Amino acid sequence: MDCSLAQLEAIVRNRICKVCTERTVDGECGMEQPSHCALFQLFPQVAQAIQSVKSNDICQYIDAIRQNVCSVCADHAADGSCETRQRVQCALDAYLLLVVDAIEEATGKTFDRTTLSASGAPVQVRPNPQMQF
Ligand code: SF4
Ligand code: SF4
Repeated sequence: MDCSLAQLEAIVRNRICKVCTERTVDGECGMEQPSHCALFQLFPQVAQAIQSVKSNDICQYIDAIRQNVCSVCADHAADGSCETRQRVQCALDAYLLLVVDAIEEATGKTFDRTTLSASGAPVQVRPNPQMQF
């Protein structure tokens, strides 16, 4: 399925924001500056990175995000580290698997998750304490 960037962003927003710990009870982004959410501030790069990979190996998508998104992010340090990521405050990193899931849904791809345990990828997402299961 072909998807415009705007459609892809809408799908990802619908999937991620509703489980994000930053989301308030009234459904708004609770960040001091919502436009600074790395996931959506850099969404064109996120989408391009994921769509540039032709593989079912999810690790390659993670690498593409590190190389093409983190490398241009203002929070990225010269040595490759990221304090925001270390504090689990980057929605892109914290919800990476859900982001990939959303892209998968939009593009009809199926990713091989068997390599995840060795990838260092954030397998666990941050639960939103406001959500009732
Ligand atoms: S921090 Fe990002 S992912 Fe979380 S609610 Fe705000 S815009 Fe959505
Ligand atoms: S992990 Fe850090 S460098 Fe990468 S997008 Fe998130 S905040 Fe930016």
